[in-house]
Amino acid sequence: HLGRVFERFRAGRQLIFARDEAELANRSKSSFLATMSHEIRTPLNAVLGMTGLLLETNLDPEQRDYATTVRSSGESLLSIINDILDFSKIEAGHLELEEVAFDLFECLEGALELVAPLAASKGLELAYSVDRDVPEGILGDSTRLRQILINILSNAIKFTARGEVVLSVGADALKNGQQQLCFTIQDSGIGIPSDRLDQLFSPFTQVDSSVTRRFGGTGLGLAICKSFVEAMGGHIEVISEEGCGSTFTFTILAQSAPVPPRAYEKAPENFAGKKLLLVDDNAAN
Ligand code: ADP
Repeated sequence: HLGRVFERFRAGRQLIFARDEAELANRSKSSFLATMSHEIRTPLNAVLGMTGLLLETNLDPEQRDYATTVRSSGESLLSIINDILDFSKIEAGHLELEEVAFDLFECLEGALELVAPLAASKGLELAYSVDRDVPEGILGDSTRLRQILINILSNAIKFTARGEVVLSVGADALKNGQQQLCFTIQDSGIGIPSDRLDQLFSPFTQVDSSVTRRFGGTGLGLAICKSFVEAMGGHIEVISEEGCGSTFTFTILAQSAPVPPRAYEKAPENFAGKKLLLVDDNAAN
């Protein structure tokens, strides 16, 4: 009997040893990837920078066409490398978030400004609305928050042929003085089949590879978003119906923080007592 107990003990030890070995191997693979992606990014940034300068010189139409292709291919490559870098950082357990006061509206508008040209080129309405009780400044990592927003917004635009993409932001004050911010991105696009919804946030998952061939992408974006959101104390989910659009919602926890007033808030007297007529053909607006 004792012999059998000892055997089981030894087998257990071996299993733990094998698991530790595997985890170590996985972590070193991820740190290798993180270092490599950094090394690849540096010269690629130089290629992109120089191509930008080249495009500002006098080129004939054929040369301009070639240089434009170099730039757009370089940009796609950079975005893939950035995804791999983020993903390997997360896998290696190196994800560190900043805790700095920033202007939430600037962050939202920064993300929207970046995706606006794509929405405009497809003739889509891109609208946003922020509840009154959302704090203007919060403490956190504005770069990562912007990255989450850009990713979900560009997916929404990518997978919508007509209609609109609307970002809404709300806030709930929690008892401990923190705010739970809730971001919703709603599109009127192709939607996601219900049997694919639960795998959407897993790495390397794409619903339709033919769409991916057309638009690019690694299938890492939403997996990265999920890790960032969870590191910010929140969660992310999606509701969707095929053919009827998708709604991505994520929350984060943050402390509100004072930020300097923005330029247009400094000159309110110019508008005091004035009447305003707004005309728009879009219901969301
Ligand atoms: P990728 O970088 O390939 O876009 P993501 O993780 O961001 O990877 O998205 C994974 C997949 O989820 C996409 O390829 C697409 O199939 C699906 N998807 C994401 N957002 C939407 C959306 N708003 N509408 C329809 N499908 C979506």
